[in-house]
Amino acid sequence: MPGLEDLYREIILDHYRTPRNRGELPPPAAHAVGHNPLCGDEIDVYLQVDGDTITDVKVGGQGCSISQSSASMMSQAVKGRSVTEVRALVRRFKGMMSIEEELPEGERAPEVEVKLGDLEALQGVVKFPVRIKCATLAWNTLIEALAEATSA
Ligand code: ZN
Repeated sequence: MPGLEDLYREIILDHYRTPRNRGELPPPAAHAVGHNPLCGDEIDVYLQVDGDTITDVKVGGQGCSISQSSASMMSQAVKGRSVTEVRALVRRFKGMMSIEEELPEGERAPEVEVKLGDLEALQGVVKFPVRIKCATLAWNTLIEALAEATSA
């Protein structure tokens, strides 16, 4: 009987082989590029935000299976969500990676419940500090794109 580790590996490979929301979005969609020089990973995040909702997200780039599958799962997890939910999701994910997200001064942590879903498959990465940067690259790039999308 396959264990949880095998199931997680399958989910990661599935997202790596069949990445979700692959592509680009034309302006005025926000666009951010992230690099992880330690591993050579590159991630492009295109974000369409209408009002308070992430209406569309596309991901490009190349790199290791952890970075690319994390980006695919991220795109799936944030599409259709509110900006507040997405910020909560970023905190939840980074918490799973043992990273305490710093809050801008005067800002409180969003108090919404979000489920990680497929993203839980990446929790084993926390045991490999070098790979944490691979797993969080898409999320840091997402935050940059989100900042651009909401600053206008
Ligand atoms: Zn990597």
